Amino acid sequence: MRFLITAGPTREPIDPVRYISNRSSGKMGYAIADAALEAGHDVILISGPVNLAPPSNAKFVSVSTSDEMFDAMHRYADSCDVCVLCAAVADYKPAKASPTKIKKRDERFSLELVRTRDILESLGQQRDRPFLLVGFAAETNDVKENAEAKRRRKKLPLLVANRAQDTLGQDENEVTLLDDAGAHPLPRMDKLALARRLVAEIAARLSVG
Ligand code: C5P
Repeated sequence: MRFLITAGPTREPIDPVRYISNRSSGKMGYAIADAALEAGHDVILISGPVNLAPPSNAKFVSVSTSDEMFDAMHRYADSCDVCVLCAAVADYKPAKASPTKIKKRDERFSLELVRTRDILESLGQQRDRPFLLVGFAAETNDVKENAEAKRRRKKLPLLVANRAQDTLGQDENEVTLLDDAGAHPLPRMDKLALARRLVAEIAARLSVG
């Protein structure tokens, strides 16, 4: 099977030297890539900027902004059996990136932000998609309720929900799998063990589907 995986944060430029980003380490997405390779699958990993070595034997696509990640996903998605969107894509980006470094001037400074495109939702809207679509949701509160609402809105057969505090930058994670049959909590485990569980779960769903 062919896995397409997104990982890491995105960077949304403010000017040539500044950007908006987040604390995502990329560890979960890279662990899923490693687990899929280990299980004998083909992997395309689309990664934002992280401090991790790209897995050998995967096709690696390095991106920086949410727009680059959007384009890369849409380039490869239809050739894959499963898309696992693990990246912490920025929700907002500066309305306009300044071509020159912004100077300090007034005491207060505001930046106009606009929504980025939601890559997962755009794939969910694609009719007759040939791939299984798997999303992640990091929530700080009411994890199950917020994540299930997200799963329905983004039309996902499978969503992996976790608490943002439990996962960002950590080596372990504790998740609940949400699908049409309900919520399936998994015990806390390290990200590679969890990645192996997820890859096995996905492979099982693809082989019965
Ligand atoms: O809505 P929220 O950002 O919490 O959803 C998280 C899920 O959506 C993750 O799977 C993430 O990779 C994906 N996402 C995306 N594009 C965005 C924002 C989130 O693919 N612009």
